[in-house]
Order: sequence, then C-alpha cells, then structure tokens
Amino acid sequence: MATITDIPMDLKGMTLEELEAFARGMGEPDYRGRQIARWVYQTGAVSFAEMTDLPAGLRTRLAEAAQLTALSALTAVRADAGDTAKYLVRLDDGATVETVFMRYEDGRRSVCISTQVGCGMGCTFCATGLAGLTRNLTTAEIIDQVLLVQREQGSRVTNVVFMGMGEPLANYAPTLRALRILNAPYGLGIGMRHLTVSTVGLVPQIRMLAQERLQLTLAVSLHAPDDELRSALVPINRRWPISELLAASAEYIRQTGRRVSVEYVLLEGVNDRADQGGRLGRLLAEHARLVGETPAAAWHVNLIPWNPVYGMQYRRPARDRVEAFLRELDRHGVPATVRLERGVEIDAACGQLRRTHGLPQAAVRGVGEVSEAEARRS
Ligand code: SAH
Ligand code: SF4
Repeated sequence: MATITDIPMDLKGMTLEELEAFARGMGEPDYRGRQIARWVYQTGAVSFAEMTDLPAGLRTRLAEAAQLTALSALTAVRADAGDTAKYLVRLDDGATVETVFMRYEDGRRSVCISTQVGCGMGCTFCATGLAGLTRNLTTAEIIDQVLLVQREQGSRVTNVVFMGMGEPLANYAPTLRALRILNAPYGLGIGMRHLTVSTVGLVPQIRMLAQERLQLTLAVSLHAPDDELRSALVPINRRWPISELLAASAEYIRQTGRRVSVEYVLLEGVNDRADQGGRLGRLLAEHARLVGETPAAAWHVNLIPWNPVYGMQYRRPARDRVEAFLRELDRHGVPATVRLERGVEIDAACGQLRRTHGLPQAAVRGVGEVSEAEARRS
C-alpha cells in the first residue's frame, strides 16, 4: 500500500537548507542542494534533465525520488499592447487559477498571483468568492506562477503582489514560505519591499506576520468606514470588526516601520459617498495617532473603482464621485491614489477570466460588453 513517504517530494517550494538536507539524504554532498536551488529558482529549469552540472546518475535518481512542479498556461490574453497579460494556469489536479503580468513604463515587471483555488471569504462584489473555496495552493504552485510568467515573458519579474484569487493569510504557511523563497538570494532574489500581500483582514494572521518583521508591504482590504456596511460587504468583518483590524494593522506598522496600504473598492452609491470618505479619513488619522505616527507615515489608500463582474448589480462610480472621495481623505492628511486599471478589456480583475473560460463566445462577449458599458460611465 502506498504510504505518504512514497509520494515524491516537490523540490520547488523547498528552502536552501531543505534542499541541502535532501541531497544529504540521497548520499550527496550539501553543495548539490545549492546547485538544485540555482536550477529551480534562478535558471527556471522545469526538469531534472536540464540540470547539466549534476552527474547523469544523480539526475535519474532525482527524477525517481522527487518532483518539480511546472505549471502550464491554458490561455493567455493580452491587453495594453502586450504590457498586460493574463494567464489561466492549470494545476496538476486540473484546477485552474489566474496569474496576471503587468509591465510598467518605469521598468517594473509585476506579477499578481493567486494563493487559493477560489476563496471562502464571500465578499459580495468579488468574482473569486462566488464559487467558494476549493483548496489551498502549495508553496510550489504559488512560486511557479512567478516562474511561469518569467518563462512566458522571457524576462525577470521585479515585483510580486499576492492579490489574485484567494486569501493569502488563510493559506498562511505556504504563503510565508513562498515569500521567503521569492526573496532569498538563493531563490528569486526579489526584494521584500517589492513583495505585497493583500488580506481581507484576518486579524490573528496579521499579528503573526507583524512578528516576522519582514519589510514586505501589507495591503488591508477595508472597503467601508463603518462596521454595519463592512459586515454587509465583507462577511469576515463580523468575526474581526474594523477596530480590531486597524489595531492589528497599527501593530504591523509598529513592528515593521512600514506603511500599510488600505484597499478600498469603490461601489457607486454603496461606499463612495463623500461623507464616507470623510469618515474613512478620520478613522485612519485616529489609528495613526495611536501608534504615534502621522496619517501619511502610517497609511496609503488605494481606491479601486469596482471592476464589473457579470451578473452582479454594483456599479463603478463616475470620476467626479471618486475625486470628491479623494478630497475627503486629503482633508484628513491621508495619502491616496486611484489605482489605474490595467487590462480592463480582458477582465483582469480578480476571478473573471476563469468565469468566462469555456463559455460560448457570445457569453464571453457579453461580459466584455458589461465592462465597456460600465467603464464608459467613469
Ligand atoms: N483576498 C485578498 C487578496 C485577493 S483580492 C483580499 O481580499 O485582499 C485583491 C483585491 O481585489 C482586494 O482588495 C479585493 O477586494 C479586490 N477586488 C475583488 N473583486 C474586485 C472587483 N470586482 N473589482 C475591483 N477590485 C476587486
Ligand atoms: Fe476572497 Fe479577497 Fe475576493 Fe474577498 S475579495 S472573496 S477575500 S479573494
């Protein structure tokens, strides 16, 4: 009968120390672990056969004893003259997630990655939440989205944002391990300050992450200035209300010295009124004072006009409403920017490609029409 030890170990997802220990376990010197790390994370090898500085016999034994996750893109849709590309990525069990590549004028090449198949949090405006949670991704599956984009684009990625499908902090250990390997000199070597994790607001995990004292950017999805509205939009607010979420975020600021990003999806007539902007500004200014910071040193608000999701009744606000909201934040000294939407025409918002994949063309066009009609409003 198969036991757990018969399942080949995935070398992608292992730290350098673990790869060295794995090499030792195979009767090899430690430096073989370092060679494997270089092939897997830096060269981006997808098979052991490519690892030409390992003896042929060892490559054969590795192929028997271990595996190397290498995901493939089922579809790629491009926008912004190729500066945005969205990949539907197939996992080994047939499940799919999405990964988005964005190239910016200043030279940054950023990847937005998923951490779960689906999501169990059920935010009312989000396409990913509609079907619930299927499963967590492994560390290998999280990291390989970045490597896949590098394979597809033929260039190195400079920034990674954990803002695709799923709630990263609900898949805490694989997410943290992926962050460390993305950052490590033996890994992908991406600076911690170029890594961003977005959370719906899991307070205990935010506090755990604060203790790690990493220099990554934490983004907190707030979306409402009061508990009644936030509980209606973001059900997890009933478990951890705004006061607890902002207190945990303040602790993150205190421990790491980093500003926290506040994500706020604007839904017309729901959470985008000027008085709600004022209330948000006041709330953030108060919580900055609690940790002895100015609002500008503690927070940065990202306003995200809602990306239409087929079948949902929300609307994107018009530009003048967004500007009035921004002015209110400014009045309270809270810095804010409106997130420039990339790839709106390819539905690069969370969870949308997967929903349209496999539908007849007419249905896919239907989704596009909704996006365009809504986009014209703003
Ligand atoms: N689960 C995490 C990270 C993934 S979602 C979180 O919620 O933070 C990343 C961001 O996209 C979140 O701020 C989320 O609220 C936002 N988002 C979800 N659906 C959206 C939509 N249709 N339009 C615009 N932003 C959306
Ligand atoms: Fe999950 Fe984030 Fe979507 Fe909420 S917004 S359902 S937490 S992916």
